[in-house]
Amino acid sequence: MGGIGWYGGLVAVEFGLAVVTVVALLWIKAPYGRYQRVGWGPTVSARVGWVVMESPAVLVFVAVFLAGAHRTDLVALVLLAMWLCHYVYRAFVYPLLMRPGSRMPVLVVALAMAFNVLNATVNAWWVAEIGGYADSWLTDPRFLAGAVLFFAGLAVHARSDRTLRRLRAPGETGYRIPYGGAFRWVSSPNYSGEIAQWCGWALATWSPAGLAFAVYTAANLVPRAIDHHAWYRERFPDYPADRRALVPHLL
Ligand code: NDP
Repeated sequence: MGGIGWYGGLVAVEFGLAVVTVVALLWIKAPYGRYQRVGWGPTVSARVGWVVMESPAVLVFVAVFLAGAHRTDLVALVLLAMWLCHYVYRAFVYPLLMRPGSRMPVLVVALAMAFNVLNATVNAWWVAEIGGYADSWLTDPRFLAGAVLFFAGLAVHARSDRTLRRLRAPGETGYRIPYGGAFRWVSSPNYSGEIAQWCGWALATWSPAGLAFAVYTAANLVPRAIDHHAWYRERFPDYPADRRALVPHLL
């Protein structure tokens, strides 16, 4: 692998952040959504927060990508398209569709933004500069399996986001039990789909940056999925008993 030095250092920082995140989340529930509470400083509307914190994942990725020597290579462009499929949805479509009313701390927005700058930089630089993929990579089993996992995860995740969004009538802010789709098996299929997606990205790019992002996503979302599951079970006596937190029949 070329580019060890500043690049390897940044990837190492991302792995380090995954460790810090999972340890912190064992003690503290990230203070947004159902765990939003006082004591975390000023807040902004969740819709604004999501656009502000996720848009660097589009803008920084594209800017770094355009600086790479392989920016016009076929594989780099395919990987760029995959990244944008997710992040245009997450940064612009998801916030516009979400029910207004929720708020989140500016601190959460700032931390997520900083992470997105780092993550977009290391992933874009790998794809457009270091990776140097031949066109034949598109028929490699690692790319094919990764792309299938990525798009299957995206489909599960976007569909689950839609189910959650439809639980509330306009103006409502409470919580209901979600049913249908992958909610039959788990409490947070939006997180299962997202984790699958970034595992797919790690495979499809076969890169340390992709692996760092998959590990970070799991470090962030596995504890939150476990918290959501316990929260549902505590709050709803009729919560489906056979539903698991994140992985059907297992976790
Ligand atoms: P949640 O599942 O906590 O909430 C998603 C949305 O659905 C929120 O608007 C929430 O409202 C609403 N909602 C959730 N459950 C219910 C319910 N039972 N009844 C009514 N409304 C409900 O997801 P997050 O906000 O944590 O994450 C959103 C997306 O971002 C997810 O798809 C996740 O995968 C992704 N994400 C990715 C991360 C990564 O590291 N890659 C990190 C964090 C998130 P409210 O906000 O009012 O609770």
